[in-house]
Amino acid sequence: MGGRYVVIGGGLAGLASAVWLAEAGMDVALLERRGRLGGRTHAMRAEQVDDLPDNGQHVIASGYEHLFRYLTSVGTRDFVVFPKRSTLRWPDGRKKVVQTTGFGAVRTLFGVHPDATVADRLRAARATLRLGWQALHPPADLADLSTDQWFDRVGMPAPAREALWDWLALGIAAEPVTRGSAAVFARVMATGFRMGVRHRTPVTIGYPTVDLDTLFVTGALRVFGERGVDVRYRAVARRIEIEDGVVTGVLLADGSRVAADGVVCAVPNSNVAGLLDDLPEHAEICAAADKLGYTPIVSTNLYLDRPLGTESAFEGLIGGTGVIDEVFDRQIMHGRGTDRGWLYCLTTSGAYEQIEKAGDEIVTEQMALLRRYYPAAVAAEVLEAQVVKMPRATFSQVVGMDSLRPPQRTSVPSLVLAGDWTATDWSATMESAAQSAAVAVELLLDHARERA
Ligand SMILES: Cc1cc2nc3c(=O)[nH]c(=O)nc-3n(C[C@H](O)[C@H](O)[C@H](O)COP(=O)(O)OP(=O)(O)OC[C@H]3O[C@@H](n4cnc5c(N)ncnc54)[C@H](O)[C@@H]3O)c2cc1C
Repeated sequence: MGGRYVVIGGGLAGLASAVWLAEAGMDVALLERRGRLGGRTHAMRAEQVDDLPDNGQHVIASGYEHLFRYLTSVGTRDFVVFPKRSTLRWPDGRKKVVQTTGFGAVRTLFGVHPDATVADRLRAARATLRLGWQALHPPADLADLSTDQWFDRVGMPAPAREALWDWLALGIAAEPVTRGSAAVFARVMATGFRMGVRHRTPVTIGYPTVDLDTLFVTGALRVFGERGVDVRYRAVARRIEIEDGVVTGVLLADGSRVAADGVVCAVPNSNVAGLLDDLPEHAEICAAADKLGYTPIVSTNLYLDRPLGTESAFEGLIGGTGVIDEVFDRQIMHGRGTDRGWLYCLTTSGAYEQIEKAGDEIVTEQMALLRRYYPAAVAAEVLEAQVVKMPRATFSQVVGMDSLRPPQRTSVPSLVLAGDWTATDWSATMESAAQSAAVAVELLLDHARERA
């Protein structure tokens, strides 16, 4: 068993594919159109404070099993932690510390709003059980519902939605609940439930204790060095060449060609056009890629001259701007010193309005938001701010899109697809990218075994 394998795209799906193919003893070339690896997860330099924050805060669910397999392969598994609690804050100064692990996390699901009455809590518990049941046994029309409609249908009371469920749904689909697909949310819930049963503990949320390049790229480069993976930067793939149902190579934008016995096409849905033209079903895949569309995310890294007074590594601001508002305290998360200021990262998912605004306006708005929740923010000065606007942060997980995601297998056994937008158990996440890579690599290795 052997041969030359080309992986197109150096994001997480491509990195994981290249690492696992190399681990299996294959000769691998990785083509990345940019001058760096990591794709949509990467560190960025903040010049004025000489620091390396990320392009956006990435959280990690404890059920991300393929992502953890990747981290184990590249030696950075220990750089992810799962805090036991988080803090929810309301603009009037009220706050609630919620447990995120163990039995306490289950209680959190049943309602934590300080205004919730006993009746609200009972209704929340009943609605949560209904949600869970319907996630495992989806009603026929679930794919036609938004998460907002689904929550209404199961009778989730307003305080439970405000303190938890709307927030969770926004985080999972990166879309406001009125647009986000109930089917996407249900599938992630069902996956989380299965993981919880398998590991006998509820799925919880954690975070990296290092920047994203250290977490994902540095260890991969070490593996590539050890295993002789040929990494080519600024190598833009144009077309995957197929002759008589067999992949023969990849044509690059500069006119050169890389010979291949197998290809993993790990580019996002925005970049797939043209690459698959030799594949019989290319028209269906490209039409689906187009339809899947995009959701914007805006991240703001704020360096302040003083601490905000956060208590948890990440805190949820309830009743904020109607989209997801979370504050990540990098001092607690990374144990970083404060000689360059206190770094707080805010990420807005489904940022359809924010994405149109200028960076300065976004910083002003985010500081105004923080001042509503943290008294210390009132006099705080911004030492440096980075606004990262990603109009195509993920494919759009609105109602009706879920069934469009293509499988990793194609009609040509030596060509497979990978990437967060291909069909997996998860929404558009790092785990979806890693899971797609695991399936893609297994398909190629099975095919190689059959040929051997
Ligand atoms: C701000 C932000 C916050 C997020 N937060 C979370 C989170 O908290 N938790 C979570 O799990 N997920 C999160 N995500 C989603 C996660 O980052 C993505 O799902 C994941 O990184 C996608 O990886 P990928 O390999 O599928 O695609 P990408 O990372 O987009 O990688 C594709 C690569 O292909 C390259 N490429 C494209 N075309 C070509 C070509 N023709 N030739 C060669 N190379 C090409 C691109 O340059 C890119 O490097 C977030 C995303 C963003 C943007």
